[in-house]
Amino acid sequence: MTFTATQQKSESEPQPEQTSLVKDGFNSFRETNSKPLISGRNSAFTPSLDTVQQVDIRQREFRAASQRKSERWTVRTPTKRDIVARLERVSAEDGLRLKQCCSAFRVLTCGQHTLRSYPTFRCKKPFCPDCAAERANRLGRQTEAKIAEAMQTHKGRLCLLTLTTKNAATLGGGLSKLKKSFANFKRKKVFKNHIRGYFGAFEYAFNPKTNDFHVHLHLIILRGKFWNQSDISDAWRDVTGDSFIVDIREIKNTHKGVKEVCKYPMKPADLMTMPDDKFLEVVKMKKGTRMFISGGCFYNVKLDDDADDADDNIFSQFADLTEGDACPFCKEELFDVLVNRQQHIGLHELNAMPNVVKNNSS
Ligand SMILES: [Zn+2]
Ligand SMILES: [Zn+2]
Repeated sequence: MTFTATQQKSESEPQPEQTSLVKDGFNSFRETNSKPLISGRNSAFTPSLDTVQQVDIRQREFRAASQRKSERWTVRTPTKRDIVARLERVSAEDGLRLKQCCSAFRVLTCGQHTLRSYPTFRCKKPFCPDCAAERANRLGRQTEAKIAEAMQTHKGRLCLLTLTTKNAATLGGGLSKLKKSFANFKRKKVFKNHIRGYFGAFEYAFNPKTNDFHVHLHLIILRGKFWNQSDISDAWRDVTGDSFIVDIREIKNTHKGVKEVCKYPMKPADLMTMPDDKFLEVVKMKKGTRMFISGGCFYNVKLDDDADDADDNIFSQFADLTEGDACPFCKEELFDVLVNRQQHIGLHELNAMPNVVKNNSS
């Protein structure tokens, strides 16, 4: 399994308190880590300690970030059933809500074509895979339209800016530190000189090895003047005191950029690796916790996170149709039916896209 190889790398990732390892040598370094280095001391990965010390700190952080990324790929994405099972053990009430979410759907169908479908109940929890996917799609659509609108009157380049902070023991603590830092950041003169508008969302990852949260902020910015990454990093360090990892890149495809910002705030796999107390903290996170921010010329990119699911339809152009009307594709009579989750998946598999119909009838 490739997992072990990457795991070993992260254990050797130098921590601030390990500076004493220079004096004590490699053996004590091995002792401080409970798991032995698998590749052994003769492998290519046993650099001299002096070299370890000299590695540029930015490189180390970069390695740690790509490490976290590669680890996430090796963990199987949990299904909703997995998350429900875990949640039922720590909070029966929340488990039941999650279980009921999207367990039944109202569907308007002729039997062959699904014209409209929506769940009878949505829990709207950020850790619910169904609700998170729906939310990401809906917010993505809204944001893209609003950004396009703002870009008509404002000039500049769209960039994706990521700001990070040091890992935090609690999710609440990490979020409030990041929010406070950003509030100071946007008041800075250099920020105002370079950025005309911003819109962003918080994302949080969990690191099971260090048992803490990595909270970061993805922003879509309208950059008026070019802003160097290292200058941003310096300005960010000024307000955070200890964090300077930032990333800025131009957005070539607005749709992809928006998707990156509006995506799921937490990887489902992270939910399964965290201990019960951290898991409960995520579950109990206040509903009103503000996850989006916007300002400048994107100030109007206000997102309605609690919007009604009225437009939760597959094809909203069929919103006016009701039971008894004729199916626009096959002219059969339409029925409004209640189906369970399994049947709903079946309906989608049969589906029902207009172009499929055209092919069949020709
Ligand atoms: Zn849900
Ligand atoms: Zn039909």
